[in-house]
Amino acid sequence: MSSSYRIPFNKPCLTGNEFNYVSDAIKQGHASGDGPFTRKCQSLLESILVTSKVLLTTSCTHALEIAALLLDLQPQDEVIVPSFTFVSTANAFALRGAKLVFADVRRDTLNIDEKHLEQLLTPRTRAIVPVHYAGVGCEMDAITALAARTGAVVIEDNAHGFLGRYKGRMLGTIGQIATLSFHETKNIECGEGGAILLNDRSFTERAEIIREKGTDRSRFFRGQVDRYTWVDIGSSYVLSDLLAAFLFAQLESRDHIQSQRKRVWMRYAEALTPWAADRGIRTPAVPAGCEQPFHMFYLIVNSLTQRQALIAHLANLGILAVFHYQPLHLSPMGRRFGGMPGDCPVTENVAERLVRLPLYSDLDDPGISEVVNAITSFPD
Ligand SMILES: *Cc1c(COP(=O)(O)O)cnc(C)c1O
Repeated sequence: MSSSYRIPFNKPCLTGNEFNYVSDAIKQGHASGDGPFTRKCQSLLESILVTSKVLLTTSCTHALEIAALLLDLQPQDEVIVPSFTFVSTANAFALRGAKLVFADVRRDTLNIDEKHLEQLLTPRTRAIVPVHYAGVGCEMDAITALAARTGAVVIEDNAHGFLGRYKGRMLGTIGQIATLSFHETKNIECGEGGAILLNDRSFTERAEIIREKGTDRSRFFRGQVDRYTWVDIGSSYVLSDLLAAFLFAQLESRDHIQSQRKRVWMRYAEALTPWAADRGIRTPAVPAGCEQPFHMFYLIVNSLTQRQALIAHLANLGILAVFHYQPLHLSPMGRRFGGMPGDCPVTENVAERLVRLPLYSDLDDPGISEVVNAITSFPD
């Protein structure tokens, strides 16, 4: 992300109308939340996702916090998350005092391993939080069936998978609740932003209240009550309409953004899969039935040493490649929930070997060739 790289890891894709809409939002004089652009974003998202009631939030992290608040978690309650994910997937539930339980991921997709999940399920399991890693759908049929056994709520952390599909269904519409991220590093972005998707509508009214500082302000604006007041716990999770204006431009340009990302991803896959196969290096697996939104292209190399050498080799050529996700169960916080080495062997192994390649809409064909040539010239 440093500008000292000729090819950065990520570059936000500006599609033209961001400045116009932000300037409209300023002229309209409604910079706070739930203004005209928030409503436009929410109804556009609802028309894309169809089954969901959508509320914009300040981030995906905050959308996960709303989800955790909706569950009224008690100290003995357990929430199962993959160990191989971003901190917020777990932290939102730790904040509510729940016991975090870490599941390993599948070798092929790096998604939560439904077989391990089954072993971790107890009568105290209140929620399961699958993360559609790289936007490739988790085994949602198996996961929802397991959740039904204990009455656990399925909360899809869909920070990577907006516009992806699992067996024809949009990711984010399968669990009772789902979350989206519009952070600058995601496909569709507004700097910082997110959304909570309420597929089980019985959560909707309370989600509106939690998002509005514990008040029934939304009911007031609909004319359902004649004043608004403090009715529940909550916090300040409403996105500024200035950011919603930026986001609306991005959402309108989603086909363009996605087709550009697809172009980059496909070129990488075509050029690097045979090279990787000869060296025991893996490229992303996309199972039949999964349509992915081209959020990420990664390599799983053979060792930590090889990863460091590859990242250094690319950096020397002006290309920034990165790795991510230290196993959560082995982090200082994860240890406090009883995480031990060996609990999630695939996560422990893959976290040391994964490299993410630059992927953004403006990466042109010569740029892609440069990355590909740099990788294939790596002396292994
Ligand atoms: C980016 C990300 C988040 C957090 O998103 P923010 O909008 O930055 O809060 C949560 N979960 C996953 C899997 C992510 O990649």
